[in-house]
Amino acid sequence: MMQAIRRRLWAFHGGVHPVQHKHVSTERPIQRPRLPRRIVLPLHQHIGEPADIVVKVGDHVLKGQAVAHASGYVSAPVHAPTSGTVVEIGEAPIPHPSGLTAPCIVIEPDGEDRWIEHGPVENYRELAPSALRNIIREAGIVGLGGAGFPTYIKLNPGHAKAIDTLILNGVECEPYITCDDMLMRERAAEIVSGLEIVAHALQARESVIAIEDNKPEAFHAMQEACKDIPDMSVVQVPTMYPSGDSKLLAKIVTGKEVPSDKLSIHIGLTCVNVGTVYAVHRAIHHGEPLLSRIVTVTGKAVDQACNVEALIGTPMDELIRQCDGNVSRIERLIMGGPMMGFALHRADLPIIKTTNCIIAATAAELQPPRPVMPCIRCGACSDACPANLLPQQLYWFAKTKDVEKAQEYNLFDCIECGACSYVCPSNIPLVQYFRYAKGDVWTREREKEKSEIARRRHESRQKRLEREKAEREAKRQQKKSAVDPAAMAEKGQSEAAAAMQRAEARRDAALREAEKHRTEGRPRPPTEPAEPRNGDAE
Ligand code: SF4
Ligand code: SF4
Repeated sequence: MMQAIRRRLWAFHGGVHPVQHKHVSTERPIQRPRLPRRIVLPLHQHIGEPADIVVKVGDHVLKGQAVAHASGYVSAPVHAPTSGTVVEIGEAPIPHPSGLTAPCIVIEPDGEDRWIEHGPVENYRELAPSALRNIIREAGIVGLGGAGFPTYIKLNPGHAKAIDTLILNGVECEPYITCDDMLMRERAAEIVSGLEIVAHALQARESVIAIEDNKPEAFHAMQEACKDIPDMSVVQVPTMYPSGDSKLLAKIVTGKEVPSDKLSIHIGLTCVNVGTVYAVHRAIHHGEPLLSRIVTVTGKAVDQACNVEALIGTPMDELIRQCDGNVSRIERLIMGGPMMGFALHRADLPIIKTTNCIIAATAAELQPPRPVMPCIRCGACSDACPANLLPQQLYWFAKTKDVEKAQEYNLFDCIECGACSYVCPSNIPLVQYFRYAKGDVWTREREKEKSEIARRRHESRQKRLEREKAEREAKRQQKKSAVDPAAMAEKGQSEAAAAMQRAEARRDAALREAEKHRTEGRPRPPTEPAEPRNGDAE
């Protein structure tokens, strides 16, 4: 308790206080839903490359068996959440704002829930951080706060960087979402255990658990669980949206600002999510890959809003029904919260690793968007912006597609929290414009990158062709001056024969000359010619 009171906290600019709607889903403990009839596992549930399938239709798989392997450095494997048969591999609808389909593995559970052989790591403290990271990678753990970045990469600060403060993000500031709150209330010891593992992997100097002051039960449970652990403390941070953003939370807890073009790790800080460290605990102390997660099922279309421990791949409509929900009453189905989440096009989509909440909202609950009016330059959006941006200016640049100007006004510092849209009296969907403008910049960057690659390829081809031409010419010249051994032997033989003939002729001439001299009484010249040799017979 004293630890929490003593620590100084820092404020950030802006922020808003949206209506919470959290109490409805915290009245019941975490529920375990029934085994689903079908499990749909998208291969791409994380940031990075989709996983590579390693099973085929008809295979029987065990619970915890990898059905798809990580396909690159930034990727994560996918595991069977229960035992059953692979009945389909192919395109299926996934929870994405686009409403598109993506490659998925479909498993029909056999009802036995039979595990693959697995076991805990005996003493993780004896393992090198890299070995720990590998186990976490193989367990398919990604950031469960919504981003889905592979956790093992986050736990690698590189050689030169030391982690001073590891922050456990228990803020959960977005309305409706209560999965981290309930996990902290009910499984605080396991979360603290996971946090110790992560601290060991990062060799962090201290760990700070940050919880918003609207979650007193979670705060006390976590405080109790870590009271005997050195260099670990719990702080209550003021309830304010979006204090759960990792850069803002770093500022609140340490006073340090993460520079615009840097990550928190560059200033010795790392934030991890509550669900993520719980998954790390299961992986190290139980040998279990990531097979399930806590999901808040809420909204007025469900009568028993609560948190469920859902297997990855469970269809959302099954969870909604199990929470006494009525799919036909849903006006809007949202994955995530009302500020940063997105609307889904259908209810039978699977829960994925990053699904922290599904809001089954009725028509009365979430009002349809109000008519957009012109900007009145009231400045309310700037006052609310936690990133200290000028949203009304950004809006203008985004609207006129002047992305260069938008970048000058730090478009990419926008954390897409939606606080500006929330306060705008003209109902301008500002954050949508900013997302669109970012997408536009990325598209242009990709195009630029593509043409740069094409230019480099063309240059390298030209160089290769010139080099080959030069090599051919050099060979031709070499050939010209080179001596062919067979021809040389033949030439040598004929030259030797000619030399011998000449020598014989000389000898005959000499003999004739000698005879002539003998007969005429003059001194004799030498009669034996030199032994003919190839090339020097002359
Ligand atoms: S809050 Fe809306 S109306 Fe006010 S300045 Fe910003 S964009 Fe304009
Ligand atoms: S969405 Fe972006 S511009 Fe709007 S308040 Fe949040 S950070 Fe600022």
